[in-house]
Amino acid sequence: MGQDHPDSPDSPDSPDSPDSPDSPGSPDSPGSPGSPGSPGSPGSPGSRRLAGAPEPGARGEDAPGPGDRDFPARTAPAAPSLDRLDAAVADCRACPRLVEWRERVGREGRRAYAGWDYWARPVPGFGPPDAALLVVGLAPAAHGGNRTGRMFTGDRSGDVLYAALHRLGLAGQAEAVSRDDGMRLRGVRVTAPVHCAPPANRPTPGERDTCRPWLVREIGLLRPTLRALVVLGAFGWQAVLPALAASGYRLPRPRPRFAHGARVLLPAEGDGHGLELFGCYHVSQRNTFTGRLTPGMLGDVLRAAARAAGLPAATP
Ligand code: SF4
Repeated sequence: MGQDHPDSPDSPDSPDSPDSPDSPGSPDSPGSPGSPGSPGSPGSPGSRRLAGAPEPGARGEDAPGPGDRDFPARTAPAAPSLDRLDAAVADCRACPRLVEWRERVGREGRRAYAGWDYWARPVPGFGPPDAALLVVGLAPAAHGGNRTGRMFTGDRSGDVLYAALHRLGLAGQAEAVSRDDGMRLRGVRVTAPVHCAPPANRPTPGERDTCRPWLVREIGLLRPTLRALVVLGAFGWQAVLPALAASGYRLPRPRPRFAHGARVLLPAEGDGHGLELFGCYHVSQRNTFTGRLTPGMLGDVLRAAARAAGLPAATP
């Protein structure tokens, strides 16, 4: 497994931006108070609701309590649609450490985002329910997705990713700043194997495993249309492989190693389409600022994956 530094498990969606709620904010994309990540309603972080999500208690016996570690394994397999899955994800409180962190970051905020009402909940995947291409990172950034409520939105990693998707014609706009910014993805969905922002950008293996049922079900629900998957970074790669196996794709032995540009065809177990798996360095600042991952390198992987998925991808 390519465990070299920039894509190691300490590299989630925005690994090199300080995640302490005390740290000064970067001035790159402060966003705008009043957007859906900042609905302006009072109430504690964690009480906010996704559009279309059931009201608290609507699930009756299925409603998660704090530290309900079985909630993902109990709930995800029964989700009948991505909408319902996303709503259930956003209610999850299975990992006490991550719940405490995401809500504390939301309460304390960051200077650059003064006035924002942080999402401070699990961040569901984003994109159409019939996507042919899935892009998988690691986890939301504390002041990115954990603030805006949308994966890879509101931080520099997301700026790089969505700009690349836009250049290929797979995103309706280049900038992703809030849940109501009008972003539309075409044939692509973006998600993560860990849906809550982790302290120091490091989910534990236990947290990763607890969260896995959400990804397994997401892949399962996408499977009729899904043809290609891009993993950003080695940690995501490690997390995705078992989810793919659990979703009915056959993994080669030995298991494929992460590398930028890796491309592996995974046949389906039984009937059904296989999947082309692509590896790409993470879009972290550590990689993009140092030139380890250039816009051209990212575009090349995304274009190849889009074409493998049967999506029309523009050539810049
Ligand atoms: S990381 Fe995943 S399993 Fe843990 S609380 Fe967040 S959504 Fe739930």
